[in-house]
Amino acid sequence: MKNLMPVLFVGHGSPMNALGQNSYAQILGDLTKKLPKPKAILMISAHWETVGTKILSLEQPQMIYDFHGFPPELYKINYPAKGNAELANKIEKLLATPSVSLDQSWGLDHGAWAVLLHLFPQADIPVIPMSLNRNLSLKEHYELALKLKTLREEGVLILGSGNVTHNLRQISWEEKAPAFMWAIEFDWAIRDALKDWDIETLTGGKKISPELWRQAHPTLDHYLPLLYVVGAANQGERISFSHEVIQNGSMSMRNVLIGSL
Ligand code: ZN
Repeated sequence: MKNLMPVLFVGHGSPMNALGQNSYAQILGDLTKKLPKPKAILMISAHWETVGTKILSLEQPQMIYDFHGFPPELYKINYPAKGNAELANKIEKLLATPSVSLDQSWGLDHGAWAVLLHLFPQADIPVIPMSLNRNLSLKEHYELALKLKTLREEGVLILGSGNVTHNLRQISWEEKAPAFMWAIEFDWAIRDALKDWDIETLTGGKKISPELWRQAHPTLDHYLPLLYVVGAANQGERISFSHEVIQNGSMSMRNVLIGSL
């Protein structure tokens, strides 16, 4: 397993984290120092949901500012990473599923650029965004991700960006507000399932009640990128969490790094 690029899931939380005014930028920067430099990044962001799985096939992805009512400096951020149409094509063939196709309409949404700019500030690694097919079950997302494993041998970083808990209806606008009990309970249940390689629980098994799932994720978009990271990993690989904070009461910022370094 020595030459396998690790896989990484990063909690992104509020777009404000992009501005680097708290410890978040530092935490992500430290994370990258541990990684070999990737040849390319397969980016799975919570903010690109489509019918069917789409892979962005553009040499220069556009910036997407998919949020409203935030300070103007956020709308000025540019992350000028290149894409890689040839690799996008290769990934489409690797997945070999009729519901997977290439796309040229999307770009880098804030789930992508808000983490990339702290992880790889030089923007010198090609980024290939891949969407979340809204018609798949948790298990089907995981099964699709199993096919991505071989990309790791080629130095591609599989990077998921979402949140282990994400409930905007119960958000506190105070970043350091105390965490809700349900958020801690769900976050720890997922942490334990990751440590135990309990795929059944990670893909919606009965250990976590449906009520707790609904509370932690009224919609599943921010959870799904984690399944791509887990699917591309192997049982027994080293797993570590460099950030285990709950922001705004309801958003787990947990990072998950899997692989030998
Ligand atoms: Zn988000």
